Amino acid sequence: KQLTDLNVLTDEYLRLSYHGLRAKDKTFNCALDTQFEPSLNKLEVIPQDLGRVLLNLFNNAFHAVGERQKQGESGYQPTIAVKTSQQEGQVQIQIRDNGIGIPEAVLAKIFQPFFTTKPTGEGTGLGLSLSYDIITKGHGGSLLVKSQQGIGTEFIIELPTTKVGS
Ligand code: ADP
Ligand code: MG
Repeated sequence: KQLTDLNVLTDEYLRLSYHGLRAKDKTFNCALDTQFEPSLNKLEVIPQDLGRVLLNLFNNAFHAVGERQKQGESGYQPTIAVKTSQQEGQVQIQIRDNGIGIPEAVLAKIFQPFFTTKPTGEGTGLGLSLSYDIITKGHGGSLLVKSQQGIGTEFIIELPTTKVGS
């Protein structure tokens, strides 16, 4: 584990994900709305692992707004909002998209390994199950999701600022 500035790590992976997608599809555009808590505590994390989680959550979010954009709704502006914050004992990273959203029946399965709604070859269905393990088992945190079909999705990473049992 390494003492890490989560604002910097989050911003890096947000841009990595966005630029990666734009390299494949030059017409893809999405508003990025970031709100980084300036006094966020640095945390002891495994930066590569947390980076994989962030990359997966951002890739999923960009995919979801891309799918909604394909529906051709007039006036639709794809947007991803990212916010870091700090309460007593924990740091939160919130990732909100106004993409297609997740139906309730699907929401129950998204953390299962190999569950995907993407066509064969496009999704492995491993991203969220791996992300869940990295956050919970790897960092003693939680990964929460809220979603409304047709409106959007929010993932919240919660990481403890105090070390438990060490
Ligand atoms: P994959 O991206 O390979 O499908 P994941 O484990 O990352 O696998 O995600 C599993 C499923 O959860 C996706 O196929 C999709 O149905 C749903 N999902 C995840 N994130 C979002 C999101 N931001 N918006 C809508 N659906 C999502
Ligand atoms: Mg994924």
